[in-house]
Amino acid sequence: MNLSHQLEEREALTLPSPGLDTVLIAEDDPIFRHLLESWLQRWKYRVVAVDNGLDAWKVLQQDNSPQMAILDWMMPGMDGIEVCRRIRGNERGRYRYVVLLTAKDDKHDVVAGLDAGADDYLTKPFAVEELRARIRAGKRVLELQEALLHAHQALQFEAEHDPLTSLWNRGAIFKVMEKEAQRSRRNGKSLGIVMADLDHFKEINDSYGHLVGDAILKETGSRLAAAVRSYDWVGRYGGEEFLIIVPGCDAAGLSASAERLRQAVGDHPFKSSVGPLSVTLSLGAVIAGAGKMEMPDCEALLRAADEALYIAKAKGRNRIESAGLLVAQP
Ligand code: GH3
Ligand code: MG
Ligand code: MG
Ligand code: MG
Repeated sequence: MNLSHQLEEREALTLPSPGLDTVLIAEDDPIFRHLLESWLQRWKYRVVAVDNGLDAWKVLQQDNSPQMAILDWMMPGMDGIEVCRRIRGNERGRYRYVVLLTAKDDKHDVVAGLDAGADDYLTKPFAVEELRARIRAGKRVLELQEALLHAHQALQFEAEHDPLTSLWNRGAIFKVMEKEAQRSRRNGKSLGIVMADLDHFKEINDSYGHLVGDAILKETGSRLAAAVRSYDWVGRYGGEEFLIIVPGCDAAGLSASAERLRQAVGDHPFKSSVGPLSVTLSLGAVIAGAGKMEMPDCEALLRAADEALYIAKAKGRNRIESAGLLVAQP
């Protein structure tokens, strides 16, 4: 997943659920349905109205469907209780808030409604202000859920991403590598690993300070992420080292990918607060698991990529060295 996907993912976290301000009304009595609809609209809710339980269930299965539902108990096709049961039986992701409308006020019926999963109920006839207050209470529950969901997702993003570059962090990119290695073992396709390290980066810090160094690292992350295919993975392995996972490519493909990464950094100076700076990247590339050859474990893959990188450094930097790891390690 490249950086723009990662950033989209982060952006999506800040968007409220589209279903939060929409209420589903399922009521077979046309006069009462229209009445409910006009009240809710006056209270600034968007409304989806249906006249039977089957249609209510259909609406609720769509993407971004309303998170709050006001269901009449007695309806043709499927009654409100059954819709409620199905909602609770299929809950994945966000919780839905269900208010049941009933002409029954026998306590046993109320218990049956709540047991089926309703959050609240109103016995017809009811005062309009009571309906309004109960919907407000439901909305508070949904908003609380939304806030918890965002906090959870933001924590998850932070746990897997490097704060400076927004790339996958070390732990996450290792997990990705394990997963991709397993996939290669299953499907017999090869797996490419590239270890990349900025050249003489210490000199940038020493000459211009750490803030300039940080800005270069950030820009390097964006350039690397923009240079890979959408199904490749770019992670920050450590300080000025990056790990790129290139699934399902042959040796020529891997070498082309590595060359694109090298050029992405080395071919254009970086804009910085102290003027344009030229930075280069050395890379060690390794390919494994092609054809009938067995896939070595990830530690061996990393070691081989690291050794190739070391050779690239020794041979003068700003270059790619590769190691063909085509057989299983003992
Ligand atoms: P080589 O070409 O051999 O890789 O030389 P180098 O200077 O890049 O390598 P060295 O390992 O000597 O130095 C790496 C430097 O990267 C040292 C460290 O201060 C810097 N560095 C690591 N992480 C960060 C960071 O998050 N921000 C900044 N500004 N610098 C960092
Ligand atoms: Mg009815
Ligand atoms: Mg290094
Ligand atoms: Mg370095």
